[in-house]
Amino acid sequence: MKKLIIVGGGYSALVLGGALLENNFKDFLILERNDRVGKKILVTGNGRCNLTNDRLDLSFYHGGRTDFIEYALKKYDNASVERFFARRGLLLTRENGRVYPLSRVSASVLDALRLPLADYVVTGAFVKDIKKTGDCFLLKTADGQTYKTENVVLSCGGKSGQNLGTDGSSYRLAETLGHTITKLYPSLTFVLSSTFPKGLKGIKHFASVTLVDGDKPVKNSVGDFLITEKGVSGNSVFDLSSEISSTKKPLFSVDFLPEYKFALVVDALKNKRGFYPDVAAKNMLTGYVHSAFSEHVALRLGIHDMPLSSVDDNTIKSAVELVKNYPVKIDGVGGFEFSQVTHGGVDTRAVNKKTMESKLCRGLYFTGEILDVDGDCGGYNLQWAYSSAMVVSESFK
Ligand SMILES: Cc1cc2nc3c(=O)[nH]c(=O)nc-3n(C[C@H](O)[C@H](O)[C@H](O)COP(=O)(O)OP(=O)(O)OC[C@H]3O[C@@H](n4cnc5c(N)ncnc54)[C@H](O)[C@@H]3O)c2cc1C
Repeated sequence: MKKLIIVGGGYSALVLGGALLENNFKDFLILERNDRVGKKILVTGNGRCNLTNDRLDLSFYHGGRTDFIEYALKKYDNASVERFFARRGLLLTRENGRVYPLSRVSASVLDALRLPLADYVVTGAFVKDIKKTGDCFLLKTADGQTYKTENVVLSCGGKSGQNLGTDGSSYRLAETLGHTITKLYPSLTFVLSSTFPKGLKGIKHFASVTLVDGDKPVKNSVGDFLITEKGVSGNSVFDLSSEISSTKKPLFSVDFLPEYKFALVVDALKNKRGFYPDVAAKNMLTGYVHSAFSEHVALRLGIHDMPLSSVDDNTIKSAVELVKNYPVKIDGVGGFEFSQVTHGGVDTRAVNKKTMESKLCRGLYFTGEILDVDGDCGGYNLQWAYSSAMVVSESFK
């Protein structure tokens, strides 16, 4: 009989385990289905683990209840993350507000978390069933073991990153204990689109991307925009991906030159025409955008093989219009197997924001992505996993 069992050994579980040891609370176990804990941590932030962000506020989060998210985030914010890792001897660094371990290697975060917890972890333990009988929970694992505990924390993630142990089975555990799961969507994923020709595959550009519903702007995101085999990807696209499913006529409008106003670019191109009249029009936008994209624009406008001297003012304006307002058709989004995080989850109306304890089942707690809370790209999901885990830790001292 344990006082507490944590189901799942991902980021939030390991943070919670570390906080419990700091509280001098030792009567707990972490059950992880994989052969080791924290596999997903290793692939986060492209192997560099983007832990949190210097810019932290509610506008970066999505989910059923903002007051629910706000409580945990305010109590355990980005500065709290920094102090938590400093106590473990791990220094952090930042790039454009994104916070990483100083080593810029995810394994250093995983090591800082997992090493003190070696005696508290059981791996290869896939919890397939949970029952509450009287004051205790009975947990059954796929290998036939039974565990008895007074309290349970479901830290077993969402439906994204399925090859890392999170296939959505976590939600069934919550449902068997009486909880409702909101509609689930893949978020922070690529977007399927047949807009760009194959020749542009691999082009990466800094861009301002606006998701439009018919002609109404829904949300804007600025960052990397990548043209891929199947569509478009990059941070700017990831951040808009969860909104697409609830948009009736979704379309991206992409500004490849967000730092420059329309008229300024038009004037610059007119100057270029005056200075280099014999240069081929396909190179008109070279220096502004990738040369293959410059050629693509010239082809679309039918000026590819002309000298710049033959390109009139209206055509220059059309070229700039395309570069600053490029319409990208949206054919769908990459599925859960490609998404970084799940939009939706355990309905937070049935969870106490001050403890993360279920309002329906005493002794049941939740941390991280299993809850109906998800964040934008930039460290916001690991921050949520941290904040929610720290709130749970307060109940075990
Ligand atoms: C490729 C990728 C890159 C990402 N990069 C970032 C980033 O840089 N910054 C950021 O903030 N977020 C990032 N995320 C999102 C972030 O990793 C997750 O939101 C976060 O890990 C969620 O933490 P968690 O503890 O809730 O769940 P997880 O870390 O997903 O852990 C859940 C654990 O539970 C285990 N488990 C599941 N079911 C059971 C069961 N029934 N029994 C036992 N064990 C079970 C799983 O094997 C897993 O180890 C990324 C995600 C992916 C997929």
